[in-house]
Amino acid sequence: MCIRDRPWRASGPSAGEITARPLPNGVWRLDWLLPPGKDLVTPELLLARVRETLAGWTDGTTPPYELLDTGVHAVHHRLARRWRADRVFLAGDAAHLLGTLGTHGLDEGLRDADNLAWKLALAWHHGPHEALLDSYQTERRAIVASRLRAADQALPLVRGGGGLRAYVPGSARGHDALLMDGHLGRGPLGAPGTYADSPLAPGRLEGEAPVGTALGAAVTDVRVTAEDGTFVRLRDRLGRGALLVVLIAPGTGVWERRHWVSAGIMPRLAAAVSALPHRAELLVAESYPGAAAHTVLLVRPDGHLVTALSGVRPADLYTAAEAVLGGPVAAGAEGDAGAKADAGAGSR
Ligand SMILES: Cc1cc2nc3c(=O)[nH]c(=O)nc-3n(C[C@H](O)[C@H](O)[C@H](O)COP(=O)(O)OP(=O)(O)OC[C@H]3O[C@@H](n4cnc5c(N)ncnc54)[C@H](O)[C@@H]3O)c2cc1C
Repeated sequence: MCIRDRPWRASGPSAGEITARPLPNGVWRLDWLLPPGKDLVTPELLLARVRETLAGWTDGTTPPYELLDTGVHAVHHRLARRWRADRVFLAGDAAHLLGTLGTHGLDEGLRDADNLAWKLALAWHHGPHEALLDSYQTERRAIVASRLRAADQALPLVRGGGGLRAYVPGSARGHDALLMDGHLGRGPLGAPGTYADSPLAPGRLEGEAPVGTALGAAVTDVRVTAEDGTFVRLRDRLGRGALLVVLIAPGTGVWERRHWVSAGIMPRLAAAVSALPHRAELLVAESYPGAAAHTVLLVRPDGHLVTALSGVRPADLYTAAEAVLGGPVAAGAEGDAGAKADAGAGSR
C-alpha cells in the first residue's frame, strides 16, 4: 500500500504532497515534497511535519511514534547521453536518475545489471562482440528514456497543476490508477519494458507462434524440467550464460524426463539446440501462458523472450540465436573460449 495524499490542510508553507509506504517490521517511510527554494529544513520544521502528518491521518491527535532516520534529498531527472565508452559502462544511478513519482530507481539499476552481465560474460569468454555490447545502451536507455517521458507527462497532473486537464471528469481516478500502476510495476511508470525494438531482435521469422508474452518482454516464471530431470522454475535457470530453449509439452510433467527425452520431437529439438552458435539449455514446460503444445521458446540469459516458434524449426532457432548474440559469432570463438579468456586477461 502507498498513500499519496494530504486529506487535511497543513499549516504554514507546508509541502503539498506526502507519500507513505509501509516497510517490514511496522516501519513506515514518509516522503514530503518540500517547497521550492533552498530554505533550511530545521529539526523543528521536520518534527512539526511528522506530527502534523500523523495527526492528519488519524483522528487529529499525533499517535506515539519513534523517528528512526531523516534525510533531505533533491528530486531530479538525469539521463546520461552515452552509457558506454569502450570498456567503461554506466549503470544504475550513474546512468539515470528517476527522481519523481517514487518510480523504481533501484529496479532500473538492477535491470541494467541484468542486461549487461551476460553480454560482458559473453565478450569476456568468447571474444569481442561489439554489436552485443553496444546493444546494452540501445536497449536500456530507450526504456529508461520512455519512463522519464511518462513521469514528466504525469507529474503536473499528479501534483495538481494539470491545467485544463485537471478538470476533465475522472482525471483524479486516472491519476490514482497511473500511480498505482507505477507502484505495482505496470503501465508507463512501472512496467519493466521490452526489448522488442532491440538491434538484437531477430525480425520476423517464418515459424513464429503467438504466446502470452510479447517478444522482448520478460518471460513468465513457469515450472520446467531441467536437463538433469529436476523440476525447477524457469527463472532459476537464468544468469548462467546460456540461452534457454523451452519446449511446451503438456503431459511431460507427470513423467520422469528419461521416459520422454528420446520420444516424439525431443531428439530433433535436442539436435537443433546443440547446433546453436552458443551454449543453450533445453528445458521442457508442461504449459506456458498463451502457448500451444509444441511451441518452442528461445529465452535470453537475462530472461527476455527472443522468439516463440511453432514446433522444431532449426533454421529459425539458429537465426534467432545468432541475432541475439549480436550477429555471427567469429569462427572458432566458441571453441576457443577458455584459451581466449586466458590470453586476453593480461590486456583487459
Ligand atoms: C531518499 C531516496 C529514496 C529512494 N527510494 C527508492 C525506492 O523506494 N525505490 C527504488 O527503487 N529506488 C529508490 N531510490 C533510488 C535508489 O536508492 C537508487 O536508484 C539506487 O540506490 C542506485 O543504486 P546504484 O548502485 O546505482 O548507486 P548508489 O546506491 O548511489 O551506489 C553507488 C556507490 O558508489 C560509491 N562511489 C561513488 N563514487 C565513488 C568512487 N569514486 N569510488 C568508489 N566508490 C564510489 C558510492 O559511495 C555508493 O556506495 C531512492 C533514492 C533516494 C535518494
